Amino acid sequence: MRTKIVAGNWKMNKNLAETGVLLSELKTKFKESSEAKIIVAPTFTNLYYAFEELRDVDIDVAAQNMHQSESGAFTGEISVDMLKSVGVNVVILGHSERRAYFGETDELLEEKVNTALKHDMTVIFCFGEELEDRKSGNHFNVVESQLKNALFKLDNKAWDNIVLAYEPVWAIGTGETASPEQAQEMHAFIRKTIGDAFNTEVSEQVSILYGGSVKPTNAKEIFAKPDVDGGLIGGAALDPESFAAIANSF
Ligand code: PGA
Repeated sequence: MRTKIVAGNWKMNKNLAETGVLLSELKTKFKESSEAKIIVAPTFTNLYYAFEELRDVDIDVAAQNMHQSESGAFTGEISVDMLKSVGVNVVILGHSERRAYFGETDELLEEKVNTALKHDMTVIFCFGEELEDRKSGNHFNVVESQLKNALFKLDNKAWDNIVLAYEPVWAIGTGETASPEQAQEMHAFIRKTIGDAFNTEVSEQVSILYGGSVKPTNAKEIFAKPDVDGGLIGGAALDPESFAAIANSF
């Protein structure tokens, strides 16, 4: 049985006070909890606070990014050791906004993944095609090359700490969602690609999340697909009712 995961990517939203409100609402909602492992990813400045607030509940805290170097003269950056020192053991890497607005390439992401894994972090690795890729029928090739460039040099064991998040760029924050069939088709392709490159033990155990306008109204249908193991949630993660409803959709 693969781990089911519902992760909330808060992006650049929620200051300290707002983070407190959202976390306390989430805490009450997840007491009975769903089958899924719940993760929240507030912004850097609120990670330690979130870790402290969630100590007594089963909700993990993730960072939205980290630097590939372990330390040094990188003004404004955050290292893996800094994250670990505030209780954060999960990091989202390769989000399409990082790729599009901050120039993160597959090669850079490979370095970030390696640094994170070296320090026993769990990596939620994001990837996905743009609208033009899908329109031109190139979406499978794009996804395959994103995976290959960043992850195919890993050893089998490393996959214990990898979670994949397929996020078609055209569905992020747009209100447009991949249909459950489109998600399943791509997730099955991803699993097969991993199976061919590594082995089926690896591909059968890796959780593959779907991301892109997941809402309480569509989560159940998407999560019901056999190769969809949960979701990476943006907008709807900022509303505790919606996020809880999504997490309870398994
Ligand atoms: P969305 O964002 O749910 O707002 O589409 C998903 C994401 O960016 O991870």
